[in-house]
Amino acid sequence: RELPGDPRTDTIPREVLHACYTKVLPSAEAENPQLVAWSESVAELLDLDPQEFERPDFSLLFSGASTLVGALPYAQCYGGHQFGMWAGQLGDGRAITLGEIINSKSERWELQLKGAGKTPYSRFADGLAVLRSSIREFLCSEAMHSLGIPTIRALCLVTTGKYVTRDMFYDGNPKEEPGAIVCRVSQSFLRFGSYQIHASRGKEDLGIVRALADYAIRKHFPHIENMSRSESLSFTTGDEDHSVVDLTSNKYAAWVVEVAERTATLIANWQGVGFTHGVLNTDNMSILGLTIDYGPFGFLDAFDPSYTPNTTDLPGRRYCFANQPDIGLWNIAQFASTLSAAQLINDKEANYAMERYGTKFMDEYQAIMTKKLGLPKYNKQLISKLLNNMAVDKVDYTNFFRLLSNIKADPSIPEEELLVPLKAVLLDIGKERKEAWISWAKSYIEELASGGISDEERKVLMNAVNPKYVLRNYLCQSAIDAAELGDFGEVRRLLKIMERPYDEQPGMEKYARLPPAWAYRPGVCMLSCSS
Ligand code: AMP
Ligand code: MG
Ligand code: MG
Repeated sequence: RELPGDPRTDTIPREVLHACYTKVLPSAEAENPQLVAWSESVAELLDLDPQEFERPDFSLLFSGASTLVGALPYAQCYGGHQFGMWAGQLGDGRAITLGEIINSKSERWELQLKGAGKTPYSRFADGLAVLRSSIREFLCSEAMHSLGIPTIRALCLVTTGKYVTRDMFYDGNPKEEPGAIVCRVSQSFLRFGSYQIHASRGKEDLGIVRALADYAIRKHFPHIENMSRSESLSFTTGDEDHSVVDLTSNKYAAWVVEVAERTATLIANWQGVGFTHGVLNTDNMSILGLTIDYGPFGFLDAFDPSYTPNTTDLPGRRYCFANQPDIGLWNIAQFASTLSAAQLINDKEANYAMERYGTKFMDEYQAIMTKKLGLPKYNKQLISKLLNNMAVDKVDYTNFFRLLSNIKADPSIPEEELLVPLKAVLLDIGKERKEAWISWAKSYIEELASGGISDEERKVLMNAVNPKYVLRNYLCQSAIDAAELGDFGEVRRLLKIMERPYDEQPGMEKYARLPPAWAYRPGVCMLSCSS
């Protein structure tokens, strides 16, 4: 019998008022759960012995078929702006937190199953996840971490043995697809939307915004908690020309500034590596500045600033590669206005957070691009000329920067030899375009020569920031095709390769190849939100 409030059965879709979460148990009812891949480095974070993965009951735990002793699973309530419009309550529609683990380093890690069944937040959908999107999320979480980009993590991937129907497919026909569950791991899954939802519900719920802010600061920003209490510690930020905001007098102001700065750093990193998130709704923005909710993401192949991996994002391209920095600011503005509505910060502090976002983004982005080019100092003109050239000739983003480290800082190299190190990425370019590239290479070499570090030394530094291997959509697709036929070898191989993206990895060169023609068909380079 279904009892209201019974976490075993009560998953009726509803507005959950005055609460941050609902107790709910996994209900994916896996018929034949199989653990098919796991991350050793996440296992280590959780102090899990790799041998544990051999235990037959492990797949039961991570399919939600059995629960951890002492765990109180729940789904979070949040809202969000989707594509710039307030969408009301969203929440964990298919994610269920199992609980938190405190590891031997006293770090707190939350474990969450994605695709484990319905919750009160499932709205019209089934609470499940299909294999292809679970493989993408599992692999990309770990690939991003190894690239050095802040992200939530993924412990393991379990297939459920059940089929899931997806009706928003490319030919418009429903399709049965294998179901799967990813165990996601993060210090927190709180989003901007976790705060927005309560502020949106009016005065009565503003206290919840405050309580949840207090919780986040205490648990995840302890330096701010301690700073605001300490009278002796006082510093002011901002410079004389602008209004000075004293961040020690209001912990919420210090917090929103830190969230803004972390978000700026995150997005600068995405731009550096050519990552497009695809669905930067405010419910997909982590308060810890982590990459969260891997849906139709994509790494740039041929450089195209207007690339969006999300078919739902056409034709507006709100979430295209080049728009991400502005969208980050727009999202921070929503978060700041939520805290303002709850009277935690004033207008001056909200504006200051946005100003800090802009400054931090530019600082980080300039530093990242300077390193990618191996330049002695930031050179705006050189970098924008390069990006313009790359866009015109649709140059492969990853491979270009990797090869760039082979250029010698020798101004006496004859013109016709200048582009030799880049020949594998400058394909089919006409005479006129060749001239544009030679002219750029000349000024680049001049700039390098002024730096005075050896070619060998620069190459090492550049290769440490320009990955050889990124999780291109076509690589994911090949692993998915094999997995759908029951072979998970390619998923595991990709995981291993993407754990060392900056290393040469002899024998694995084919994973650094330019995408084949089929990579540009819809369903590979572009996906929809609903998977
Ligand atoms: P996303 O586009 O992945 O950020 O998801 C937006 C909202 O839809 C979130 O509240 C998700 O939990 C929810 N959602 C997405 N897919 C499903 C699904 N298959 N079942 C239930 N809820 C879902
Ligand atoms: Mg989401
Ligand atoms: Mg999603």
